[in-house]
Amino acid sequence: MRQPCARWGCKNNATYDLPLCREHWQDWDAFELDECSSCHWFYGNAEFIIWDLSDDIDDKHPLMCNNCLAIELIESGKVNPWPGIEWEKRSVASHKTIERLRRYVYILKLSDATFYPGQTKDLAVRLQEHRDGQQRQTKGKDPKLVYFEMFEGMREEVNDREKELNQLNKTSLGRRRIRQMVEEFRSHFRLVDLER
Ligand SMILES: [Zn+2]
Ligand SMILES: [Zn+2]
Repeated sequence: MRQPCARWGCKNNATYDLPLCREHWQDWDAFELDECSSCHWFYGNAEFIIWDLSDDIDDKHPLMCNNCLAIELIESGKVNPWPGIEWEKRSVASHKTIERLRRYVYILKLSDATFYPGQTKDLAVRLQEHRDGQQRQTKGKDPKLVYFEMFEGMREEVNDREKELNQLNKTSLGRRRIRQMVEEFRSHFRLVDLER
């Protein structure tokens, strides 16, 4: 027996390894759904709107749905922020926690002084694959990681960024830009103090 989808109001079953049905998983991945930190149901962005509007709201209310927040405000003696709406306590949705996947766009420098941009979910694993010669374009060219950017979720942004870097890598002007990026990146790392 499958778990029901944790999107409030959805009648579908969750997929086998996620708390949401397929459709709502895609919404979540596109940053259109968020999990209420109080009732743990998932809601669309508009259902968190009081959180943005009310002056009473501070860091004590990290991403609470309108419903939970209204009840908390009423119970703490403040007025119903939206008079006329009957708020009703919702049972807690139990599901395992999900985290946004991290993805990386990276650039390798090869022994023939060329660059190789790519993307991966796991930087360490991918780097090892390159070193082991599993990637045709980098095989035998002593690939060295010289640059990366980290993304959370946003698959399309990652694809766009990878495409952009590949475009840059095709022209000498673009490659000059890449060299600048790598140099800036390195200069930031020189600021990192690992002695603490
Ligand atoms: Zn659903
Ligand atoms: Zn809630």
